[in-house]
Amino acid sequence: MSAPLHFHIRTFGCQMNVHDSEQLGELLRRSGHVETSRERKADLIVVNTCSIRRKAELKVFSLLGRFRSLKEANPALIIAVCGCMGQKFKGELVEQFPQVDLVAGTHNIDRIPALVERLRNGEGPLVETDFRESVPSIGVVAPPGPGRVSAWVTIMQGCNNFCAFCVVPHLRGREESRPLGDILREIETLSEGGVREVTLLGQNVNSYGATLGNGDTFPRLLREIDAVEGLERIRFTTSHPKDLSDELIDCFRSVKKLCGHIHLPVQSGSDRILERMNRRYTAAAYVDRVERLRRVCPGIAVTTDIIVGFPGETDEDFRATLALMKAVKFDGAFSFKYSVREGTAASRFDGHLDERVKGARLTELQALQEHHTMERNRLIEGRLEEVLVEGFSRNSGNDVTGRTRSNRIVNFPGNAAMIGRTLSVRIVEACAHSLRGERPGNEEVTHAG
Ligand code: SF4
Repeated sequence: MSAPLHFHIRTFGCQMNVHDSEQLGELLRRSGHVETSRERKADLIVVNTCSIRRKAELKVFSLLGRFRSLKEANPALIIAVCGCMGQKFKGELVEQFPQVDLVAGTHNIDRIPALVERLRNGEGPLVETDFRESVPSIGVVAPPGPGRVSAWVTIMQGCNNFCAFCVVPHLRGREESRPLGDILREIETLSEGGVREVTLLGQNVNSYGATLGNGDTFPRLLREIDAVEGLERIRFTTSHPKDLSDELIDCFRSVKKLCGHIHLPVQSGSDRILERMNRRYTAAAYVDRVERLRRVCPGIAVTTDIIVGFPGETDEDFRATLALMKAVKFDGAFSFKYSVREGTAASRFDGHLDERVKGARLTELQALQEHHTMERNRLIEGRLEEVLVEGFSRNSGNDVTGRTRSNRIVNFPGNAAMIGRTLSVRIVEACAHSLRGERPGNEEVTHAG
């Protein structure tokens, strides 16, 4: 093999992309290369991209433009683009940005080390964007680093739902679940390495197992993970409301390590818009799921995604979304203005809204959500919460930071010995995006489970 390269990975987009980058980093290290946090020191830069919104794509275009001067200064530098934009734009990226040497699609991230070797042997530029039957890049276990408390675990790839606004099924391919045994082994390895919390990742984890054909389901997977020794907490994301079964909701009571937080994208509160979005549930059915979740697991945090200004959304439709928010009172929400994504059904719909209308609706909706988030956070003031400490706070070297079981960030005075431990913390103040806590003087450390 040729001499080791210094590689640098830039990641855009969701947790799945961050996790894909972690796995790619591990594959490159296993190939003998060395990671650097400095772009200018790198001989290989990989940009892992996201196409969910136009804004994310524009950021990557601007970054690739900037890399031109790096390439001029160091002609041996290898620039690779992978992920959703690689899948979408394929060879166009190389044509538009001649400084790009390699484009790898969503099913080809694991091939990057071998493709880099081909480039170093004089081939190129290379474009690999075929969809494959199974995606071996998923499930590469990076050894947990010192002090690493939480880890992501991909349990499935792709999506079969074809929501009208979404590019994921077009760019990540059809749904495919990993075998249950492989996931369990990965989590056991993580737990043995000191990881206390795993977040299971998939576009629609509720339908886990459907492609395996052996009767394995998501509730069964949760029950098996619950038995992994040393692990304290289980989280998952993302859930589709139409597939949120009673059996899965009941897991919030019966699976002891499953934390009381669910991210359940609603997208709209208007039945007419939900139908146009191809979401296959109604606003009433959504509210029914939340009510059941709160009966089974009082105190569960419910967060969501909402799109405003979907094609054809009237003021009445928008008011229906606000009404649903008032009925549910989400603990948090990611909200966005609809943006056209080529190739999706909604891009061909009529009734596209003016940017100013979308902007005004988004501002109104976000103000309401901020109010709800504060209201929900204030309910926790004065309570003792179990916090898994992840590290030092970014804002103060005297504070540590961690999360409650309901996924709220808590900052409180602490020290290095607390990292990786689960502590009882009294919540003294609710803030907009986090909570302030303090350790009760005479109470013992508790361990979840
Ligand atoms: S469920 Fe809908 S929004 Fe989520 S990834 Fe699949 S198509 Fe996209």
